[in-house]
Amino acid sequence: MADPVAPDMDFDPVALRRRYADERAKRLRSDGKDQYLEVAGRYAEFAKDRFAPLADRPAIDALVDALVVGGGFGGLLAGARLRDAGLADVRIVEKGGQIGGTWYWNQYPGAQCDIESYIYLPLLEELGVVPSERYARAPEILAHAQRIAERYGLSDTAVLGTEVTSMEWSDKAGRWTVHTDRGDRFEARFVVTATGPLHRPKLPGVQGIEEFAGQAFHTSRWDYGYTGGGPEGGLDRLATTRVAVIGTGATAVQIVPHLAEAAEHLFVFQRTPSPVDVRGNRPTDPAWSDALDPGWQKERVRNFNALVSGVPQDVDLVADGWTTLIGRMMEIYRDGTAGALDRPFEEVLELANMEKMEEIRARVDVLVADPGVAEALKPYYAMFCKRPCFHDEYLTTFNRDNVTLVDTDGRGVERITRDGVVAGGVLYEVDCIVYATGFEVGTGYERRAGFAVRGRDGRTLTEKWDDGGMRTLHGTLTHGYPNLFVLGQSQAAWTANYTQLLDEGARHIAAIVSHMQSGGLATIEATEAAEDAWAEEIVANATNGTGGIGGTDCTPGYYNNEGQPLDGPPWGASYGKGSIEFFRTTKAWRESGTFEGVTFTPQTPAI
Ligand code: NDP
Repeated sequence: MADPVAPDMDFDPVALRRRYADERAKRLRSDGKDQYLEVAGRYAEFAKDRFAPLADRPAIDALVDALVVGGGFGGLLAGARLRDAGLADVRIVEKGGQIGGTWYWNQYPGAQCDIESYIYLPLLEELGVVPSERYARAPEILAHAQRIAERYGLSDTAVLGTEVTSMEWSDKAGRWTVHTDRGDRFEARFVVTATGPLHRPKLPGVQGIEEFAGQAFHTSRWDYGYTGGGPEGGLDRLATTRVAVIGTGATAVQIVPHLAEAAEHLFVFQRTPSPVDVRGNRPTDPAWSDALDPGWQKERVRNFNALVSGVPQDVDLVADGWTTLIGRMMEIYRDGTAGALDRPFEEVLELANMEKMEEIRARVDVLVADPGVAEALKPYYAMFCKRPCFHDEYLTTFNRDNVTLVDTDGRGVERITRDGVVAGGVLYEVDCIVYATGFEVGTGYERRAGFAVRGRDGRTLTEKWDDGGMRTLHGTLTHGYPNLFVLGQSQAAWTANYTQLLDEGARHIAAIVSHMQSGGLATIEATEAAEDAWAEEIVANATNGTGGIGGTDCTPGYYNNEGQPLDGPPWGASYGKGSIEFFRTTKAWRESGTFEGVTFTPQTPAI
């Protein structure tokens, strides 16, 4: 029955709103993000590098122009742009055994980008590459990361299988000293931290994980020695194995079809279903790629971000699940469907969002044969409360005889025993447990980064930011930490296409360094006044009360601090006026030539 608020729509917004609130209430936990177990101490094995653990080597003692922490797309883009800016010795330190960051760690079966590869893979035009598919698979993406490293001279000097443990600034030397877990000591004029938002695996907050007698691993440390096969699937050692997957987020959605094909039996333990829309992958048409004009990637990235930001465009170049959803919202708004023109914009957005989620729920009914299983797989929350997923085989996997969905109705698994997984008071005996339980988000900067950053007065960044909140200028520079550049989204921007943010950040850093090189400047540092003003601007524009993407009325998840209000203001939020405005602001700032809000010191002339 349609509600008068949406006469043209085939659903009842009032009932849906109530259902969303009920589902959220079921999942709210007072321990919020503290529910999860850290992969340290007795769980440290879950973080071990299974792909390319490197042999011992002598410690390095070196002086470099710039040290970049992290060899994922962020570190590679920063490294590439710094090389373009004229720095000769740019050294990447990466804890993985190869360059690649998230695409090195996440080599699980079925791993694939879920943002169109033509906009997600950076530097395509610079390298003369067009991905082979609309959604490229992990091995191709990893190879592209390594190609960037080669092209920009970052491979040979990269320090792999090595974790930075601490760094401290010396005013006297005008440099950072960076220490690693292999005893290295680097002196660096500049440091860039590009550690990524999602790289420290976490485990569910349940008892007994260490008691399990079978094989267990986290998705970001896939054990191919045990399962057989590789990132493309073919897990040929699982034919007589009962497997449990815990978690049904974006990672599990990609893994489940492969496990189902290979395992004797697969149990999928679900706390909250993901919204799973159409994937529609296809090989790249050579006629299309041959006809691309110079500048095509930049324009495609811009067009996508404009549409996802709600700015109408003459053409939708990517036309995927992201742009069509936002496009539909704008269409409803413009056409006055559901009397939208008479309604507040937020209400129109909510209706369009509900309409999209209804479509996603209807897709489950079409694809899943058992009505009870279908019902359990339907997400009842607003789009963007959790990562939207796109997959054409996930839902149909639940039609297989060897697959059981164990829906926990929002409660999650209860414990792990020697023999398997307990949920709803029932023990499911399995031989293997795959933890698809995601990554730490919202824990302290240094805990996630894994190292302490000591500035001019010996204070760590965490100590500084614990005392009154995160303070940066544009998310990049922070007072007391000269020549340190932070690359990330906190106090910067949120973009659906994360590599766009990384590229913009890398260009920003390189432009500053170029200016310093040409002006004979030794150090740069944000002033306290400027970073206070920027932090206030971030908080003043943070609208959803969580500092994340999902709002306070969303079902809990890492997008909204697990549904808990923040202890204080959302200092770590991204810029609330949106990425377009953020990129415009930072570009104008660096191109003005005045560099307002920072202090530079000149280089001491050589005697
Ligand atoms: P998520 O944090 O998104 O998912 C973790 C899953 O574990 C959730 O389903 C969560 O349930 C579940 N969980 C946690 N505790 C329990 C418990 N006690 N019992 C049962 N289930 C539990 O991690 P992912 O690794 O799936 O994804 C992380 C991010 O990585 C994505 O959001 C995305 O940004 C990125 N990603 C990108 C991909 C790409 O192609 N570009 C592919 C895959 C991931 P609940 O929802 O109830 O908390």
